[in-house]
Amino acid sequence: MTASLDRRLFLRTLGLGAASLLTPFGCEDSGRYLDSDIERLAEQKRLEKERAGQGPFGSHRYRGYRGLADLPYFELDSKDRLRCIVEDLPPIIDFHAHLGLSVLFAPTIDWMAKTQRVRHFLDCDATNPGCELDLDVYINANFTEKDLESLRRETVAQAIWGSESAATHTIPNLLAEMDGVGIQLAVILPIALGLPFRDDSSERWAAAIASSGHEDRLLPGATVHPRDPDAVSSLRLQVARGARALKLHPAVQRFYPDSPELHPIYSECEKLGIPVFFHGGRAGIEPEYTHRYTLIRHYEGAVASHPQVQFVLGHAGARDVGDAIPFAIRHRNVWLGIHGQGISVLRELIDRVGAQRLLFGTDWPFYHLGASLAKVLIVTEGRPEERTAILQANAESLLAREAS
Ligand SMILES: [Zn+2]
Repeated sequence: MTASLDRRLFLRTLGLGAASLLTPFGCEDSGRYLDSDIERLAEQKRLEKERAGQGPFGSHRYRGYRGLADLPYFELDSKDRLRCIVEDLPPIIDFHAHLGLSVLFAPTIDWMAKTQRVRHFLDCDATNPGCELDLDVYINANFTEKDLESLRRETVAQAIWGSESAATHTIPNLLAEMDGVGIQLAVILPIALGLPFRDDSSERWAAAIASSGHEDRLLPGATVHPRDPDAVSSLRLQVARGARALKLHPAVQRFYPDSPELHPIYSECEKLGIPVFFHGGRAGIEPEYTHRYTLIRHYEGAVASHPQVQFVLGHAGARDVGDAIPFAIRHRNVWLGIHGQGISVLRELIDRVGAQRLLFGTDWPFYHLGASLAKVLIVTEGRPEERTAILQANAESLLAREAS
């Protein structure tokens, strides 16, 4: 394709994308995001900064992912890779991981490539010593302004010229990291972005997993875009092909989870016996106009009207974890994915919601798998039942529930 045609097509795509992305979906938009919501997010960030390191576990700051080897749970191997050395861990299940993304014009990634090192989006090991990694804050607080700029650049690159980071987000690289820290199984969650073409991560990742021969260790997820008129049949097809959970991302896909238009999708999940895995809550680094979609109260209608469907709230509500806790207590069909939460909050989640309702997740390749694992190990020291529930047993029972 010539450069000018390429550019014209790109601009047209952006135009189409912008029109559909900026139109709120379903419910009346006004009154759904209040000044008090904006203030609460600012307050959460302020308090987190103030309290970091002063919780029940004290300060846990490390230099890069390699620095986690200062903890008694890890060591570095001869190639300086992080290895978990805790002997009595169960085979861990990671309920929240992704592969490298290439959509629209970006060249297809070779998902079977093995590279020297993984460039995580928070590329803490790019330098030696690595960047400062604080385990007692919501994990994205570790991104500096410069890191965020590079994340935005990589995000665009994944859709246009191809991302150098994403080219390292491959199956062998993920498996090597899983082997290093003792993760047996990972659920790979794609997201339908609502693009006019080449928006088929779900299909391509599932195909890559199938051809890798590692279907026993990587479970593909499904995704649909709520604005896709064929969403329900597409979901059926993906599940028939082996997908084990439906990923929906209200901020990226710009929809309110309680929109009536979503209900046929939730009903189909009930019929198919698969859980809905939501991105839950405001992460705080996404574009501000998307914050409105992920307030915890907007998930209430979905969860309450589909009591037979199991819903996972990824990131345990992220920076809205204060709302996610009572929400999970109110609804027995809600599980909290713990990825991102700092160690003090993780302890609070266990104490208030119960270890039985929490699912381990890493959000790889944003971060090294060891970052999430380190937090669980710190918080569950001397509490083997909690540790096993979070790292393995809960995910196992959620996945088994589908099969029955
Ligand atoms: Zn994720």
